[in-house]
Amino acid sequence: MPYGYNGKILHVDLTTGKMEVETPPEPFYRKYMGGSAMALHYILHEVPKGADPLGPENLLTIFDSVVTGASISGQSRINVNAKSPMSGGIGDSQAGGFFPAEFKFAGYDGVVFRGKSPKWIYLTIINGEAKLNDASHLLGKVTGEVDKLLKQEVSDPKAQVMQVGPAAEIGVRFSGIVNMANRMNGRTGMGLVMASKNLKAIVVRGRAKPAIADQKALAELNRAGPPNMATNPDMSVGTLGTAGVVMFQNMLGTLPTRNYNEGQFEQAEAISGEKLAETILKQRDTCYACIVRCKRVVEITKGKYTADPLYGGTEYETLGTFGSYCGIGNLAAISHAHQICDMYGVDTISCGATIAFAMECYEKGIITKEDTGGIDLRFGNTDAMIEVLKQIVTKSGKLGPVLAEGSARAAELWGKGADECLVTCKNEESPAHMPQVKRSLALIYAVNPFGADHQSSEHDPYYEEGVAQFNLDRLKEMGLGEPQPARSLTPEKVRFAYLTQCFYSMMDSLTLCQFVYGPTWGLYGPNDTARMVKAVTGWDVTVDELIELGHRRIALMRTFNAREGFARKDDKLPKKFFKPLVGVGPSAGVALTHEEMDTALDEYYKLAGFTNQGIPTPKTLKQLDIQWAAEYLPT
Ligand code: SF4
Repeated sequence: MPYGYNGKILHVDLTTGKMEVETPPEPFYRKYMGGSAMALHYILHEVPKGADPLGPENLLTIFDSVVTGASISGQSRINVNAKSPMSGGIGDSQAGGFFPAEFKFAGYDGVVFRGKSPKWIYLTIINGEAKLNDASHLLGKVTGEVDKLLKQEVSDPKAQVMQVGPAAEIGVRFSGIVNMANRMNGRTGMGLVMASKNLKAIVVRGRAKPAIADQKALAELNRAGPPNMATNPDMSVGTLGTAGVVMFQNMLGTLPTRNYNEGQFEQAEAISGEKLAETILKQRDTCYACIVRCKRVVEITKGKYTADPLYGGTEYETLGTFGSYCGIGNLAAISHAHQICDMYGVDTISCGATIAFAMECYEKGIITKEDTGGIDLRFGNTDAMIEVLKQIVTKSGKLGPVLAEGSARAAELWGKGADECLVTCKNEESPAHMPQVKRSLALIYAVNPFGADHQSSEHDPYYEEGVAQFNLDRLKEMGLGEPQPARSLTPEKVRFAYLTQCFYSMMDSLTLCQFVYGPTWGLYGPNDTARMVKAVTGWDVTVDELIELGHRRIALMRTFNAREGFARKDDKLPKKFFKPLVGVGPSAGVALTHEEMDTALDEYYKLAGFTNQGIPTPKTLKQLDIQWAAEYLPT
């Protein structure tokens, strides 16, 4: 009997309804450990070159890891992967909550979906027994309603539900997959892939908690948690949630404002975590077994914009994309927008950023009231933002069908220089951390296999002169000890970007939360992360082995993308990031240069063992013990 995991992966052929259980050997689990590294093993082997992301030949994979469900903070997360309908390259998205742990307790470590069901169905996995059920009665219903209905149908209020919302059913490209009605695998269009298979939901419940190899060692780590909460200043994420960073980002000049043209927002305070806590916070929430409790639950019962606590509360990213990106300082309206996204199941980053993009196009005259159906789509127009959002999630009105495709496709349709207003990398809208200021993040936005992502490496302030000793001590555990000047992209900064990218990549394989196991500011540091994996699985893992796992995942993703025709030409940033920022604050006038990005790319490819076109070499794949992947490299 393995420690930490079930040793079982469920394979579901949706076309035929046939289900099979695979029991991979321990070396398979040790090599990939779970999450997207494990997913890529199946996707790269089976999804044919040039496959339609929304066709039956695409795979949809949902994976826990070997530590999901263990009784310690930050492990209850789950990864979804498939070929992305946003980029045409690999898609990847992670979410937390109680679903991931319950999925493990239901008896499986992952599920691989193939084909397409002839009718809408949902999958139940209850105590190891998997069954496909008719879902036609669930269509068109919002996520909160479906969550309730499915719990009733399995007669268990403690069952956990993962589902696509009505937006995915009608083809909104940046649809996510929602669990608990308030957690989301939001990025890269994974909800649309799930809907393309006529798979409405997955319901799980189980009592099979995998055994832990060293309960005593795990208890010791658990005992260190509360003192770490008290002494680590970054653990304010528990009290204010991710919303707590709004004022810090604003101070740095890295709060994207009016579609990323400025780095400081004059109404930042009105949308801050502090304001949220003072006014609309109902309670804090958590994921399974996590003591950090960073999740917000808000409630607004009066006024034009309401918020139902069922849908949780806004994260920093949502405050950015629907707030400062759109020039909107109305916390109630942003909370309402967040709720609409959760109810209909769309990614708040892509959705809010796409509206901000349309606002800039309108302000520049690229689109007019004729294109908007009469909506005065200026920055700061709160009612217009909500109206356009409603059009997007229902694909209605003049703008809904266009913007439901995301900003990159809308720019192509509109032409007239609309691409100058984009903030996309590989068609994925950029999150609310400005790469002009955090320059190592610029490199990661460019090279990340699934587009701009703020959770794929550590951010620059943690490796710049003046960084707190606490954070630096953690980085030293992974061989990083020379902080660099602010806003630099030196070779050492590139090394920081690469190594921390490998660390974060490992976390997306072990499906760990970055607020708990980050390389600098999490509840636990790199050495503790290795200790935790060892305690749960009994494997004698080291930080180096974990970093190699992260590297393996990146190389597999880059191999998938290379086979689809991606190369250096696709590791690029939007034009906007090379223009000086306007407005006020420390980032006014700041811009990236093409020269520094080119040099950084060369340096990064060398460190990662890729060609100067950004493609993994056969030698690198061999070193990473995935030589089988070489057959998928372009010739
Ligand atoms: S830190 Fe927050 S997001 Fe991460 S596991 Fe804990 S409650 Fe969930």
